[in-house]
Amino acid sequence: MLHVEGPLLTVDVGAHETVETSVDDVLETFIGGRGVATRLAHDRIPFDADPFGAENSVFFSTGPMQTSNMSFTGRMNCTSLSPLTGGLLSSNAGGFMSRNFADTGYSVVEFTGTSDELVVVHVTDEGVEFEPVPDLDGATVPETTTYIEDTHGLSAEHVACIGPAGENRVRFASIMTTESRAFGRGGLGAVLGAKNVKAVTFAGDSRPQVEIPPIQMDVHRDAATSDHIMKEQGTTSVTDLANEVGALPTRYFSELQFEGVNGINGDRVGEKKYKRGTCSACAFACKLPTRDEERGVETEGPEYETVMSFGSNCAVDDIVDVMQSNELCDRYGMDTITCGNVVAAYLASEDEFGNTALIHETVEKIAKREDEGDLLAEGIDRFHEDLGVDNWTVKGLDFAAHDGRTLNGQGLSYAVANRGADHMFTTMYAWEYPLVAQEEALNPTGLKGKAPHVVKQENARALEDCGIVCRFSRSFMTPERFEGLFDADYDELLAVGSTVVELERYFNNQRGFDRTDDTLPYDLPDFEAALDDYYAQRDWNEDGTVPNEHVSDDPATAD
Ligand code: SF4
Repeated sequence: MLHVEGPLLTVDVGAHETVETSVDDVLETFIGGRGVATRLAHDRIPFDADPFGAENSVFFSTGPMQTSNMSFTGRMNCTSLSPLTGGLLSSNAGGFMSRNFADTGYSVVEFTGTSDELVVVHVTDEGVEFEPVPDLDGATVPETTTYIEDTHGLSAEHVACIGPAGENRVRFASIMTTESRAFGRGGLGAVLGAKNVKAVTFAGDSRPQVEIPPIQMDVHRDAATSDHIMKEQGTTSVTDLANEVGALPTRYFSELQFEGVNGINGDRVGEKKYKRGTCSACAFACKLPTRDEERGVETEGPEYETVMSFGSNCAVDDIVDVMQSNELCDRYGMDTITCGNVVAAYLASEDEFGNTALIHETVEKIAKREDEGDLLAEGIDRFHEDLGVDNWTVKGLDFAAHDGRTLNGQGLSYAVANRGADHMFTTMYAWEYPLVAQEEALNPTGLKGKAPHVVKQENARALEDCGIVCRFSRSFMTPERFEGLFDADYDELLAVGSTVVELERYFNNQRGFDRTDDTLPYDLPDFEAALDDYYAQRDWNEDGTVPNEHVSDDPATAD
């Protein structure tokens, strides 16, 4: 089976020490990316660790495909304990850093400990440098990136950094790379902030040699010649469909269709797009550099999720206002989904939906933890009672934009996902809208027979995150192509994905998560039976925990 190459580098930012460890057995079993990082996190982070404590680690990792020139591979993984959910959480960012990371020669870089002073950590194939940067205290993402460009001659594509939100431990702070790409969900930026790490850089000339089968060229050609609408509108191409079927959360999840959708849909985003945008090596190029000259707003995105969180969910019907919120979140380093949903909750409590001046002011206050921003920075699960609003979260993570009340299988997926109400761990919505071929489509209503599908899609998405292959390769990366690329039977590859999901769940079980956390803030027909079926499919206990015997100390024999 194809897998990433290179040792693990552990960087103790408190002791200023580094250790290289061979982890070949982990790489051979888990391929790379999320899988390898999950196994290492399981083995190295104490089950009772504080997400903000020195004992928590942040793992950056790539897969074997980050040494290739294939489309859909310009992404990399970050894994840590989330200060938002309290569980193990992996987040995946696009952009251009994955190749520069691979050039260091490491498969995984772990940051642990806590620095006494604000530092930038420079990782190269020749060593690690710890640079005190007191002057970057409170610096935004563009300011930090510019400093590193000017001082070290490293482009934004070498940099992962946090903004003021990360320094202020906003529980949904992101780690930003290439300025506008985010390891967004779950607050991993706040973990770096707690470690006093303002930025990390990756550079070198030691990219491992991985033999990538020639089938990569077929994928690349198909990506280049495709006329998919995502090339024009990115993920926002789904906005009208979501609204039409009643799956577009609106006014803090109180409605499912937005009367102002025409002001924020894919057409409006497409009109603001001013150049092609992509990730490294990707000919599909679905990214969205957008600009509004009249108001002087320039950003990348918004993606569909942000169109929901800062658009329909805040009752905002002007795409430029959403672009501005997007730009603010990127500048301060915050997840646009959670931040938008948090602001929507605040607007609901104040009866101020659609007040764009208040929205933008609130985003700034959250990043700086000023006034009510201090409470909002804790996330909906922690503040909803103070504000008197409903708790639209699962396991502490707020909902993504494909509503499970209409797309019921996606709802089940939100309930069971290890990182909470996030859409990327199954993308069940794609089968329920549907965005896939009609013969593969699922009736969105009801949960009968959906649990096996959720299991299969969770495993398939985890496999992609090990590879690492982008979610939007759906129409291009067939099972046969996975087999050809990774030199293994597809069922064997899905089993790797399954082991990753199980290990995340096992870790979280040790932190107290069980069936009582696999819940939704709304009723779905036959939900408890579907949960039973989901656990049975995975051979887990009825209380949603993983039997101890499933998890081995030896990664090579992990079930
Ligand atoms: S499909 Fe889009 S998000 Fe995925 S790697 Fe290509 S440009 Fe990046």
